[in-house]
Amino acid sequence: MAGGGTPDSVGDLARERERFEREAAEVSSRDAWEALRLRWVGRKQGVVRALLAAIKEVPVEQKREYGQVVNLLKRRVESRLEELEGELERAERQAAIGAAAVDVTLPGRRPALGSLHPVSIVTQEIVEIFSAMGYSVAEGPEVEEDYYNFQALNFPPDHPARDTQDTFFVEGGKLLRTHTSPVQVRTMLEREEPPIRVICPGRAYRFDNDLRHSPMFHQVECLVVDKGITLGHLKGTLEAFVRKLFRPETGVRLRPSYFPFTEPSAEVDITCPFCSGDGCRTCSDTGWMEILGSGMVDPRVLAECGFDPEIYSGFAFGLGLDRVAMIRFDIPNIRVLFENDERLLRQVRG
Ligand SMILES: [Zn+2]
Repeated sequence: MAGGGTPDSVGDLARERERFEREAAEVSSRDAWEALRLRWVGRKQGVVRALLAAIKEVPVEQKREYGQVVNLLKRRVESRLEELEGELERAERQAAIGAAAVDVTLPGRRPALGSLHPVSIVTQEIVEIFSAMGYSVAEGPEVEEDYYNFQALNFPPDHPARDTQDTFFVEGGKLLRTHTSPVQVRTMLEREEPPIRVICPGRAYRFDNDLRHSPMFHQVECLVVDKGITLGHLKGTLEAFVRKLFRPETGVRLRPSYFPFTEPSAEVDITCPFCSGDGCRTCSDTGWMEILGSGMVDPRVLAECGFDPEIYSGFAFGLGLDRVAMIRFDIPNIRVLFENDERLLRQVRG
């Protein structure tokens, strides 16, 4: 009868009942239950209705038995559907309770905490140290003009020192600043008169890339211009700074060097923070570690920025923030800082 044919015997009814029981056993959702109901007792296409109507096709001698059996089937279908509906309702209630259940004995789930990048941590510390000494913070563009990045800092065109600053050039004759020093120039040009005491933290770009260098790196620049500023002020400021940033007993050593924008210029070493100067692998057994470049602002740079070098003098230094973060957090490879591996942040927060 399943295909719409006519049941003509009690045997067919028995097969129909088996079919119903199989289909009912497979019902596990409201939708499946509704489909089953329509298929068997739906007003238009229901199997039971068709079976009842088919009684007129049944041979006379079988009509009585057929009628009894088809009525039994009808009652069975109706009661089974009712039973199934109750089961589905209970299962739904159970699921809703389960989903909302709270096991108060379970440990709480820890919300993920954000944390600062090692470079941000040391930048903030350095800004705090200098703010306490009366410095203000200055910033400038990362896409910079040649004038501010080189010319005003006493790198004339074709000056060989330009070759030491592997420069990324961009469209329109601009470049990615190779150091934070152009912010010095911009600050001096903005101010009418000294005194100037600023620090300029920010990103700079050069195309070297190895264990110690990344094409993008962070620097903080310090600039002081006033009447009577001497190398002694530079050394005293550096000492006060590194003793706050590292350990109170940190020593400072200046070695003569060359930068176009300072005269005289000095590389600055500090006593190795890992061995306190006794010598270890990190400092190659020297007890010292080079951390920054510094010097007295070249009189030509002062004059270029509108300050009379006969009246004013100044000092400047530039410090690699990535290097400080590596020392502070004992990070061996600069690339670790920029790989965006969250585990680094968790360790630093630890
Ligand atoms: Zn050491």
